[in-house]
Amino acid sequence: MSRRGEVLQEMGLGPVWRVRKKEENFNIEWQNLKTRVAGCTDCKLRAGCTQTVFGVGDEQADWLLVGEAPGAEEDRVGEPFVGQAGKLLDNMLAAIGLSRGSNVYIANVIKCRPPGNRNPEPDEVAKCSPHLLRQIELIRPKLILAMGRFAAQTLLNTDATIASLRGRVHRYVGLPLVVTYHPAYLLRNLPDKAKAWADLLFAKRTIAGS
Ligand code: URA
Repeated sequence: MSRRGEVLQEMGLGPVWRVRKKEENFNIEWQNLKTRVAGCTDCKLRAGCTQTVFGVGDEQADWLLVGEAPGAEEDRVGEPFVGQAGKLLDNMLAAIGLSRGSNVYIANVIKCRPPGNRNPEPDEVAKCSPHLLRQIELIRPKLILAMGRFAAQTLLNTDATIASLRGRVHRYVGLPLVVTYHPAYLLRNLPDKAKAWADLLFAKRTIAGS
């Protein structure tokens, strides 16, 4: 108890309730969410992975980048996009003056690695989506960049192709959302890197105009 609290208690005026500061509440909310995700066994994926992969970066970022699910490296390290695709992503971010941790937050729709990197199943998406939704509520980014077909189709609830979704500003829970290729796809399709670069510049302009 603080000195002030002790004095007030001696005067018969305790206990004294203190209004929590906004920042303190914010940290508690994040901690609650991290604990909930770390302990989540709501779907069958947790039994087959090493650890949950929560997300990484600036918790008050303007940019929220969303991928699909952890792969083998991410499952081992506990951080999204740390494999080859992650290196490409970091390089692309650096080219527009950004880095994970500085005005950027990176998360996946699914927090546990699907076995053999199979596509997440609908019941897994349904169970895990509230975690991403809560991350979005806490970060309140200026823009969401959905990377790849799975993230784009899941967040926008569509089965449209990436090609048809690119180059426009969509909305997800009221926030601007831009679609681009998944970095792992770009590693296999180098010519499309130019398009992903155009998407990043489009996203940057969208944020600047918001
Ligand atoms: N692919 C994803 O979608 N997310 C990761 O974290 C890694 C690879």
